[in-house]
Amino acid sequence: MSVEKKAVAKKPAPLRKPRQKKLPKPKWDVSDLDTWGPDRHELGATIPEAGNSVYNETGGWRTFVPELDPEKCDGCMLCYFYCPDASIIVEDGKAVAVDLAHCKGCGICAKECPTGAIVMKLDEKE
Ligand code: SF4
Ligand code: SF4
Repeated sequence: MSVEKKAVAKKPAPLRKPRQKKLPKPKWDVSDLDTWGPDRHELGATIPEAGNSVYNETGGWRTFVPELDPEKCDGCMLCYFYCPDASIIVEDGKAVAVDLAHCKGCGICAKECPTGAIVMKLDEKE
């Protein structure tokens, strides 16, 4: 008697939606900022916890704003690597826009761009 092996089709694993990472509660309470004095600040900068740009939109600090022309971009990615605020938005290997909620307007991207695709302009605030 021959034993026939049946090919058992494996059920594909159900597609799971990636679980949205829950943002941790900020450890730094800024609600009493008016009462803060030099005794509570280190000289230089205070970085109370890593990754806090999720809570703080630093775009309002800007005086100059980068203007990006994706047509002139050759995809070298220098702006992306040098931007201290990770504000260069890349699509299909080219810089296409700037995250103005976080860009502080330092101008490094414009200085590094070899094709002149980024120029700094005075940020006209409302
Ligand atoms: S101006 Fe500075 S912060 Fe803004 S995108 Fe360019 S490098 Fe980043
Ligand atoms: S530095 Fe200039 S050419 Fe290079 S990716 Fe950025 S915008 Fe494009």
